[in-house]
Amino acid sequence: MTEKLYYENQYIKEFTATVVSCTEGKRGFEVILDKTAFFPEGGGQPGDTGFIGASEVIDTVESGEDVVHICREAVTGEVECRLDFEKRFSNMQEHTGEHIFSGIIHSICGCDNVGFHMGEHSVTVDFNCAVTQQQLDEAERLSNEAIYKNIPVEAIYPTDDELCNYDYRSKKEIKGQVRLTRIEGIDLCACCGTHVAFTGEVGIIKVISVMNYKSGVRVTLQIGRKALADYCEKNISVHEISALLKAKTEEITSAVERVMAQLQESRYKYSALKKEIFAVKAADASGEKYIAFDDGGEAEDARIFSDMLAEKCVIAAVFSGNDENGYKYAITSRTEDVRAIGKELNTACNGRGGGKPDMVQGSVAAKREEIENFWNKI
Ligand SMILES: [Zn+2]
Repeated sequence: MTEKLYYENQYIKEFTATVVSCTEGKRGFEVILDKTAFFPEGGGQPGDTGFIGASEVIDTVESGEDVVHICREAVTGEVECRLDFEKRFSNMQEHTGEHIFSGIIHSICGCDNVGFHMGEHSVTVDFNCAVTQQQLDEAERLSNEAIYKNIPVEAIYPTDDELCNYDYRSKKEIKGQVRLTRIEGIDLCACCGTHVAFTGEVGIIKVISVMNYKSGVRVTLQIGRKALADYCEKNISVHEISALLKAKTEEITSAVERVMAQLQESRYKYSALKKEIFAVKAADASGEKYIAFDDGGEAEDARIFSDMLAEKCVIAAVFSGNDENGYKYAITSRTEDVRAIGKELNTACNGRGGGKPDMVQGSVAAKREEIENFWNKI
């Protein structure tokens, strides 16, 4: 059984230990020490990384009563061990932050945290009931108030008899000694993870998004150091957008709305102009079959133009696009069934699509020359 130093002091960054066993496994050398400060993956918290001697620890997992370090190289004897404490501290911020938020959601909505994942960039927490935006806003506000109060985060080990006196949150039935993490006035939860000593160290808890998940919701949170990184990244984006729009940062939403409205208006004008151009071109069309090309790449353009041409000729085909990206097509006739031509075109020119007897539409991944060759043969 490995002595678990992380339960004695969660801030141990370096320690000396003795290698008990080292065997080659699938992911690397599986090292068991007599004692360790490396936390093994569990309860939603990832396993620690770092170094045992000169050998990199890429993951830490639990195996019964032992803690197994997955190492790149074999190690032996007495070893100096060093955690990637920046990562571990971030995990502690996130884990304590999750307890604060889940405890507050529990008291506001009465629902439980039924899933918890600490991802590379954010944390997700699943709750087993619906949570309104208003409740999320309130939980976020209260969570940050709890951070400002700098409340101690305590680990308590009640006896079986004492346990029934505690009203605590727990995701599942726990066998053996129960370890409770208490944040006075905020949360009491059975937990095997590592935590910061005071809530102030969490820094910040920010709700990023919420989505419906199973019978409840999945909330994405930014907590601690990662929240700051996220803020920095978003701040850069806001300033870049602001510069592009030549608008103050606090006015970028209305500036985007203005640009969108201008774009929409331009689209209408462009569409009207295109129709006029198609009408002029269609005026000169005649004959049994007529093919036209347009560089817009829009299915709608192909449809409108071929419909105009069908007034002047028996079968009209319009291909809109270019050789590089392919063409959207429409083949139209007032008198003939064009579905067979559409099928042949799809086969000959690597296309897909279909339609009704008087019009087929689709796209082809072919060059103009290939399309013209096909058209001349039919
Ligand atoms: Zn926990």
